[in-house]
Amino acid sequence: MATKRIIIAIDGYSSCGKSTLARELAVQLGYNYIDSGAMYRAITLYFLRNSVDLTDHAAVRAAIADINLSFVFNEHRQASDIYLNDENAEPYIRDMIVSEKVSEVAAIKEVRTFAVAQQQRMGHDKGIVMDGRDIGTAVFPHAELKLFMTADPEVRVMRRFKELYATNPAITIDEIRHNLELRDYIDSTRDESPLRRADDAVIVDNSNLTRAEQLTIVLEMVKDRTK
Ligand code: C5P
Repeated sequence: MATKRIIIAIDGYSSCGKSTLARELAVQLGYNYIDSGAMYRAITLYFLRNSVDLTDHAAVRAAIADINLSFVFNEHRQASDIYLNDENAEPYIRDMIVSEKVSEVAAIKEVRTFAVAQQQRMGHDKGIVMDGRDIGTAVFPHAELKLFMTADPEVRVMRRFKELYATNPAITIDEIRHNLELRDYIDSTRDESPLRRADDAVIVDNSNLTRAEQLTIVLEMVKDRTK
């Protein structure tokens, strides 16, 4: 009998290792991995490039109507690259200029409605791992497995620093700490689907877990849910 395919929803604060776990789970299970944050980042990139005024609802709506987002699997990364109107936006969406604006953009109702509708369509056939801030609460409230990831704030800052330093040696630890704190604050206090743990989400604190340990623990949970 074929194994039951489920939806795995992963939420949590910035830089808790959500995307690392999500990608590894998808590879192990043969599932599709969708990085919902990449969608908000690509929308932000478009808004920045086109100087969209975030307080002008008509301008925001018009900009959204011009945006087409899609994911194309990248063999090398073993994950999907996000395309913004047929351009691979991966090389630009993690730049600090995008990180500084993304939470403000993601708090806009029209932006969330657009992104969430697309995310829900992607989950239609199950067999999907999606990470973000509202996946277990708003996008897939009926997901079979929900995780809420957390890690010690300083562990998160250093992880992000190592990741970004490789491509931007001018970046400072303070800059990263400030960005993570600000995004977490905006993400968890906004009106539209704020970041919070779904009542039925399992907390995974990976401050002292290796990637392999974390993967093993969660694969056990998947086994349990797909019996
Ligand atoms: O996951 P990542 O850190 O790349 O997400 C960037 C930003 O996108 C978050 O700080 C948050 O503001 C927004 N986001 C969101 N809802 C999601 C995923 C990301 O609001 N499901």
